[in-house]
Amino acid sequence: MFNDDLKRRVRDATNLVDLVQASVGKLTRAGRNWKACCPFHNEKTPSFNVNVEGQFFNCFGCGKKGDVFTFVMLTQRCEFPEALKILADRAGIKVEPADPRMAEQYHREKEWKSYLY
Ligand SMILES: [Zn+2]
Repeated sequence: MFNDDLKRRVRDATNLVDLVQASVGKLTRAGRNWKACCPFHNEKTPSFNVNVEGQFFNCFGCGKKGDVFTFVMLTQRCEFPEALKILADRAGIKVEPADPRMAEQYHREKEWKSYLY
């Protein structure tokens, strides 16, 4: 159900800067990146960096780092499937095929593939 294609689509549709902004409120531009006060530890000087091109974050203060999924997992305290669902909903991407026949076909293809390999 949580295949790489879905993961990629959700990641492509999610802007990490927007996501961080919604959580920490304020980001400042630092060259090509963005900086903010870390949501995971207390600090007055921003050491939380958001890399726009790579869509990942890292904090020089507490060492937390990751991508959009990790950010949601850490801020919402949830597991990966839940983080994927939250971001998919946010981006308007359906996690499961809406048509039951499509779901059936999807499962059959999966079985067929696992039979092949
Ligand atoms: Zn930190």
